[in-house]
Amino acid sequence: MSGSFWKVAVEAPLPEPLTYEAPSQLEGHPLLKRGSTVRVPLGKRTALGVLISDGADGEGPFKIREISEIVASRPPLPEPYLQWLEWVAKYYIHPIGNVIESVFPPLGKAENARQKSRKGPVAPVVARIAPPELTDEQRVVVDGILADRGFGAHLVHGVTGSGKTEVYIRLLEDLIARDKQALVLVPEISLTPQLTQRFAMRLGDAVAVIHSGLTPREKTDQWWAMVEGRKRVLIGARSALFCPVENLGLIIIDEEHEGSFKQDEKLKYHARDSAVVLAKLYDCPVVLGSATPSLETWGNAKNGRYRLHEMKKRVEDRPMPTVEVIDLRAERDDRKTSEPRPDLPFWLSGGLHDALKETLLAGKQSALFLNRRGVAQSVVCPACGHTPQCPNCEVSLTLHGKNHLLCHYCDFHRTLGPVCGDCKEGEPKPLGLGTELVENDLLRLFPGAKVARMDRDEITTREDLEAAIADIEAGAVDFIVGTQMIAKGLDFPDLILVGLVMADVAFNLPDFRASERAFQLLTQVAGRSGRHVSDVPGRVIIQTYNPDHPSIAFTRAHDYDGFARFEMSCREQLRYPPFSRMGAFRVQGLDLDKVKRAADALKARAERLLARQIAYQRIDLLGPAPCPLAKLRNNFRFQFLVKGPDAANLGRFCRQLLADGDWIPSGVKISIDMDAINLI
Ligand code: ADP
Ligand code: ZN
Repeated sequence: MSGSFWKVAVEAPLPEPLTYEAPSQLEGHPLLKRGSTVRVPLGKRTALGVLISDGADGEGPFKIREISEIVASRPPLPEPYLQWLEWVAKYYIHPIGNVIESVFPPLGKAENARQKSRKGPVAPVVARIAPPELTDEQRVVVDGILADRGFGAHLVHGVTGSGKTEVYIRLLEDLIARDKQALVLVPEISLTPQLTQRFAMRLGDAVAVIHSGLTPREKTDQWWAMVEGRKRVLIGARSALFCPVENLGLIIIDEEHEGSFKQDEKLKYHARDSAVVLAKLYDCPVVLGSATPSLETWGNAKNGRYRLHEMKKRVEDRPMPTVEVIDLRAERDDRKTSEPRPDLPFWLSGGLHDALKETLLAGKQSALFLNRRGVAQSVVCPACGHTPQCPNCEVSLTLHGKNHLLCHYCDFHRTLGPVCGDCKEGEPKPLGLGTELVENDLLRLFPGAKVARMDRDEITTREDLEAAIADIEAGAVDFIVGTQMIAKGLDFPDLILVGLVMADVAFNLPDFRASERAFQLLTQVAGRSGRHVSDVPGRVIIQTYNPDHPSIAFTRAHDYDGFARFEMSCREQLRYPPFSRMGAFRVQGLDLDKVKRAADALKARAERLLARQIAYQRIDLLGPAPCPLAKLRNNFRFQFLVKGPDAANLGRFCRQLLADGDWIPSGVKISIDMDAINLI
């Protein structure tokens, strides 16, 4: 007697599920159903897969093989969750089996038990504290969101320090009382002990946390605790979305504008957009929070697809920080004419210097933000102008310490010799600016002051981060110098001055989102200042060569709406997102010629498809052109952009372009990044 046929999404890079037959002894098994995990033969090995549907017919050119066993140790995937995985696979054009692979933790339960555990609990254990009384604005937002338990996408647009976290906590308390579960996604970089403690202090041991500092075993423990319903709230980075909870009642995406919610390799999903789809399938609310919403989300709020909730004031009427802009061009001219201040390094204006000094004397803390690590951005030979490059990537090497050259993309490093490697004559000189140089200069200018540098050179582990935060909280630090690491989420009571050493670094990027990113970054960094004191407002000083840049002008005025209106009109003219959807094909390989030819062939295919099908007439093609990072880890990279007004239509076009890839030469890889964020 033969059994039933099943389509199985096998954990392998196959475009479609495969058909298998259930042997008769499995018939009637309670787990022989959609969503269950099975083991199946695949070539000479076996692989895991998930049952997608029964009733597939057994006809076909290939011999149908039998399912080997049902893997009962993996919980069957809940129906809405499986539907979501199918959507992810289709929308992001990724094999369903590889999407399913992202769901299960690296270790099964049995393997897990054998792994060694580290001491101490994973989620923070802290004393519970009583809730503060909500501000009027918070109350309106909480009530507004709780009014409807079904699907709804809510944007909480609240200025920095308006108390968005407290809003999330109230929603979560309500959810726990209703016996539901929630996912809280935050950017990895703000997954700090500070943030997770704030949740734990209020929600107690209902909270599970997954962050990059955990061992595989700890991660697996947290995963199971959620899947089995022992924990209610999972806080994690974007991948927490792949925890298949049964009882999902709420999703929260904090700092929804963050580019890191988009994964730009392998499965190129956007966690925010995917979360909205997941919430829809579970018929539950999804809450997106930010002081500087992405224009995609802003567009959705303005056209009514998302509900907009605004919080315009900081809690307890604490003032917004004052923002001063220092024009570095004027500063430079001044130095030529007026009384010179030889004590000041080139990157520090008199105004920012005096503010730092004042803050130090008042016993408060200052933070200096600079989006560059190292001592100098690069070195240059004064004789021939040569700048050492990474041999694997098309970027200059960055100077670290006295003579250590490092590539920030592939980690290539070498020692800087005393003479130029090119002309063998000149003596290479540092060019530009990095966090390490700022630190050194501060120590020289303010002897005895304590400086904490927070960047990827100094803070490599979670322990480093915890230690640095503890030092700052204990008041053992006068100056914080850092990169993006200090832009997000940190909340220090004594921090009343924030200086942006050179704002220009942010908006000089070859990317249509550069202004948006610059505005977000400036506003977020500025938002670290003066969050607790209500008598003296926090101060922000922006040093820049472009004081009239819109990103700076709108930051200064705390005017998100103005910025959004301005930037939206630029996007609309160029039909860039959110006025279109964009997919980025990336063509790469070791042989430049082959890569170029493949990129041209892709374009020719696209043009033929456009000419043949009227449905595609509103799709625009851009490129192909070398990526701004034209060579990375020895791979030459070309980009080919496609944009169109309708996501489903554009998706169909891209899938069709990539179908039967026989024309792609060997040694060349073509991938598609739907709604790409990273265009570098
Ligand atoms: P945001 O995430 O909007 O920047 P936070 O949630 O970090 O703001 O809140 C800013 C500060 O205000 C935090 O120190 C927080 O503990 C405090 N806070 C939040 N809500 C209230 C409230 N209702 N009453 C008093 N303090 C509050
Ligand atoms: Zn490199």
